Amino acid sequence: EVAKPVYKRVLLKISGEALMGGQQYGIEMDTAERVAREVSAAVTSGVEVCLVIGGGNIFRGLSAAAKGMDRAAADYMGMLATVMNALAMQTALERIGVPTRVQSAIPMTTICEPYIRRRAIRHMEKGRVVIFAAGTGNPFFTTDTAAALRAAEMGCDALFKGTQVDGVYSDDPRKNPDAERYDTLDYLEVLARDLKVMDAAAVTLMRENAIPIVVFNIHDKGGLARVLAGQGRATVIGK
Ligand code: UDP
Repeated sequence: EVAKPVYKRVLLKISGEALMGGQQYGIEMDTAERVAREVSAAVTSGVEVCLVIGGGNIFRGLSAAAKGMDRAAADYMGMLATVMNALAMQTALERIGVPTRVQSAIPMTTICEPYIRRRAIRHMEKGRVVIFAAGTGNPFFTTDTAAALRAAEMGCDALFKGTQVDGVYSDDPRKNPDAERYDTLDYLEVLARDLKVMDAAAVTLMRENAIPIVVFNIHDKGGLARVLAGQGRATVIGK
């Protein structure tokens, strides 16, 4: 039994890779459903949840640009990839009974709603999960920055970053056994030491709006609900 959540509304950012499972590319529906169950547990505990999902499992603008594609066009393709992930996650969530709306920063009204801030807030008040797709809608940005932007716009109490490990380390703990793990960090420490959490634009936006970033393991079963209740393992970046 998990205690009462200490957050009222949160934005959860996961990378596209979190949906890849054992594959090298794309979406593994079993993995998407596991993530959906984490979100469902959070919603059941009374937290309002919105999501930003990356697109790196399908298309990454920067790598395509490095191979000669126009950067802006490649970035738009990356944003389209995030819409695919959003639709897959909507399917996974609704299969387990969580009402979900997708809102895209680039309007594509045949398949999802356009991004409308006040409407997104209303959906969350009604207990629906809102998935923000197409990043910020601008090339040269990332889905980390989109997550920070939407977290600020939605008045979220925290930005949750679901990763492959249980917090922020001084180095990759899967490669360096001596990597140090932190329970808490300051925004400026993250920036100054270039710790690989979220990109600098996202961290700065959270610092300016005093919204904590909570880094936890998205693959830890029941982990999201525990961290929301202030009981789980996570690194909290604040101050
Ligand atoms: N992207 C963009 N603007 C945004 C968000 C995303 O141009 O506001 C593009 C960018 O090309 C990026 C791709 O979408 O490489 C996929 O997003 P990201 O790499 O952030 O996904 P993740 O690494 O979280 O899976």
